[in-house]
Amino acid sequence: MNAEIIAVGSEMLTPQRVDTNSLWLTEKLNDLGVEVTQKTIIGDDRGRLAAAVGAALDRVPLLIITGGLGPTEDDLTREAVAQALRRRLLFSQEICDWIEARFKRLGRQMSPNNRKQAFLIEGAEKLANPNGTAPGQWLDLPGGMVLILPGPPGEMKPMFESLCLPLLKERLPQSRIRTRFYRVSGMGESNLDALIAPIYKPYGNPVTTILAAEGDVQIHLRAQCDTDEEAEALAEELGSKILAALGDRVYSVDGSPLEAVVGALLKAKGATVAVAESATAGMLGARITQTPGSSEWFLGGFQVYGAAMKSKLLGVDEKVAQEDGVVSEAMAAAMAYKVRERSGATYALSITGEAGPESSSEGVEPGTVWIGVAGPEKVEAKVFKFPNGRERVRKFAVQTALNLLRLELL
Ligand code: ATP
Repeated sequence: MNAEIIAVGSEMLTPQRVDTNSLWLTEKLNDLGVEVTQKTIIGDDRGRLAAAVGAALDRVPLLIITGGLGPTEDDLTREAVAQALRRRLLFSQEICDWIEARFKRLGRQMSPNNRKQAFLIEGAEKLANPNGTAPGQWLDLPGGMVLILPGPPGEMKPMFESLCLPLLKERLPQSRIRTRFYRVSGMGESNLDALIAPIYKPYGNPVTTILAAEGDVQIHLRAQCDTDEEAEALAEELGSKILAALGDRVYSVDGSPLEAVVGALLKAKGATVAVAESATAGMLGARITQTPGSSEWFLGGFQVYGAAMKSKLLGVDEKVAQEDGVVSEAMAAAMAYKVRERSGATYALSITGEAGPESSSEGVEPGTVWIGVAGPEKVEAKVFKFPNGRERVRKFAVQTALNLLRLELL
């Protein structure tokens, strides 16, 4: 089934407020097997909202509206939906009494304009709101359903979870969902898609979604069937084909982040790691220590940003910087070798590069990063050219360093 969401409120058409309700609702609806096909944000304008409600109901059988249920002049959701459905608004003494009692409990006087919140659209069921004054409304229509919920997330979420979810489960066709979530490193989004598109394209179900961040591509599969068994079989069928095509480029099949995967590999081997960072100045150490218990495998690191520190603190021969440059294979290898030696760690990682936006004084282009890996058997350094943007380059460098260590540990 398809659904639409309308977020009501002029403030969400400004840069100051973001419509987070629809993201939250989309996740809940997806879990029920409902696809959100359109989201709309409408300012506090009755005519526009009424038109949007009518148009949405021509397209989908389930419409959820949040916001605009307050007591003020510009809260027009009730009126607009009534207009779109050509239904009357009916005063509910019960709701009015409840609102008045709520004000009393809080030691306040109900203001006359709160009466507005006691109107229900003809045929609507009230959705109680223990966290605010505005009740929600549930409308069963001949061809569908309209849910009207308050705008404040602290009111909308509990109302949806406790009252709407059980009713939706009863009314929606039962379907079962099984998902797969793979994370890939060491390959860009477009290369990855070129490789796996021929595998997933023939499948309309499961639905495949690919999301990319710096050095981390995520693949989501969503299989939807009448039974758990069918959904599981379909997710497994496509999932195993994708895994076979990607091989060791998949670093996680359970959502774990790369630093946790590397930590688990180190722990399983009883091995440790230490780092020497120039361009990322501590970001790699920070990433590794995001995993609880990382003191078991992370010994520490050297932040050697300036050229002199690479010699003074790490003991890299000054000739390396003079002859090869601070961003060079020799420097990355020497940094990794030295930090391994000084720390006594089983493995060591080093990062030296030019994060940009300008080229370095040595003429190294922005985005150029050398990453060194030292282990019990060898020291190696590789060069990468990451896409522009100082923060992106640094994040790519950290992710790539972790991935090189992961591949070394496999
Ligand atoms: P109230 O009875 O509290 O006035 P309401 O239903 O009229 O509730 P709005 O006045 O539209 O809600 O919004 C109140 C506040 O709730 C907004 O200022 C905003 O901070 C938050 N809010 C409204 N809609 C959303 C949304 N779609 N996503 C996130 N926050 C929202």
